[in-house]
Amino acid sequence: MPDYMFLLESRLLPEQRAALLRVQELSAAMGFNVYLTGGTVRDLITGASLRDLDFTVEGNPSKIARELEKGGAKVLAEDEKLRHVEILFSGDCEGSIAAARDDHYVRPGTRPEIRWSTIMEDLRRRDFSLNAIAISLNPASRGLLLDPTNGLSDVERAEVRALIIHSFTNQPVRLLRVLRFAARMGFKLEQRTREWFDLAIERDLHHTITPEDAGTELRSLAREENPAAILKSWEEHDLLETVHPMLAKKHLDLDSVNRLSKVRDDLFMAGLRPRLATPMMLAILGRLKDREQGSLLHKLGFRVAEVDQILSFEEEAHAAGKDLAGKKLAAPIDAYRFLEKMRTDILAHLLAFSSNSTAVSKIRAYLNKWRPLRQGIPAIVNELTAIGMPPGPKFDAVVDQVFAMQMTGRGKTPEERVKILRKLSGIKEPPKPKETKGKEKKHAGKIVGRAAPPPAPAGKATAPPAKAAAAPAKHQKAAAPAKPQKKKKK
Ligand code: ATP
Ligand code: MG
Repeated sequence: MPDYMFLLESRLLPEQRAALLRVQELSAAMGFNVYLTGGTVRDLITGASLRDLDFTVEGNPSKIARELEKGGAKVLAEDEKLRHVEILFSGDCEGSIAAARDDHYVRPGTRPEIRWSTIMEDLRRRDFSLNAIAISLNPASRGLLLDPTNGLSDVERAEVRALIIHSFTNQPVRLLRVLRFAARMGFKLEQRTREWFDLAIERDLHHTITPEDAGTELRSLAREENPAAILKSWEEHDLLETVHPMLAKKHLDLDSVNRLSKVRDDLFMAGLRPRLATPMMLAILGRLKDREQGSLLHKLGFRVAEVDQILSFEEEAHAAGKDLAGKKLAAPIDAYRFLEKMRTDILAHLLAFSSNSTAVSKIRAYLNKWRPLRQGIPAIVNELTAIGMPPGPKFDAVVDQVFAMQMTGRGKTPEERVKILRKLSGIKEPPKPKETKGKEKKHAGKIVGRAAPPPAPAGKATAPPAKAAAAPAKHQKAAAPAKPQKKKKK
């Protein structure tokens, strides 16, 4: 059996690990059992990237949320009836905490009665076996995998399996969900699930999906890495229409969707974690007129603020592109600073769709040259320390200046950089100790000690001369290791 705790810890980003530890700690303090569930466990097992952390507690998640808020977490949505909290943990990591519950259907397809339950009952009420696996985070069983519906074997078979015959009757939106998961993961529908799916379509259940449920699916679709495959699958099964007739009527603009997916990959490769839900939604709705987009989103239960944000996005991105290409940001360092603060969705949108070639080439430089250069900053810090610059605002200013010079192609080699650093910091090279031989060597220290201090740095000297003169000797070894002595020619 794989070590799930090890798997988990090795796959989590540092901020996700911190969030997990905090939830674990708070649950233990409050006496709740807590489990990692849903998409997180599925993605962990299948090797997909862990986008968010879904927790289930045998207790009330609101209490945990209140404590997390004190530490800087933000509650994005809270459903008190369902005891479900969507949360942005501190460190900008997304997730949810929900109370373990059982959905009790008096008759198939009726509104379920909610009962607070144990984790096992909670897992059994879920949609598909691959989403019904949990990992215990409790002290006595930490790392234990709970898989009451045998989801692991379905993952191995690459199949999505609905858990009960009434799955689609109880929640017709699962017709969209099952295709979304199958397309996302490249899985098939398990044979009986396929039969239940076909039967549900035959009975027209897809026409009973509520607009709100369809809206939730559309929102999830826009967060997917490869929405085009899912859209195609929905289209092939004639389900686009059930999301909204307008989507089916106007042909999908899969090119735009794919272009944005490609840009997402590029951003990942460059070390960013893009959240592209807004531009992706626009790409999905690409062929619809603004007015149609607005009315579709309202109909599907999107909040006014959400609709406004989506509809004003293109203009916002256009304005940011214009600023980026403008004279004020002509210097690479200024463009870098601007791009550093630019939201990743705007950056992605410009890369994918903008005709502003200046802005696009700056974004490319930012991703492919400037950011990698910036990663070299620790080396510059070491070099500057080694020549004897004390930490402080001046130190930081010199580092920034060198970075700005590097962006224009200077200071590529360590030798060239040290020269630049000395010039900017005003710290002169210490006088080379005179070559001494035999007896005189013994007194070399004394001689250097007695030597006149180096002349005060010329021009805008920044470092105090005394320290500047003393420090290099101390750090010299770290900065430039002694060259190996040339072998004598034989
Ligand atoms: P994603 O990677 O898209 O976040 P996810 O599986 O985490 O995938 P969520 O919508 O966040 O999807 O839901 C979390 C979990 O809640 C699911 O894994 C599933 O177990 C359960 N769930 C969500 N929607 C339903 C549903 N309609 N019926 C039953 N269970 C559901
Ligand atoms: Mg999730």
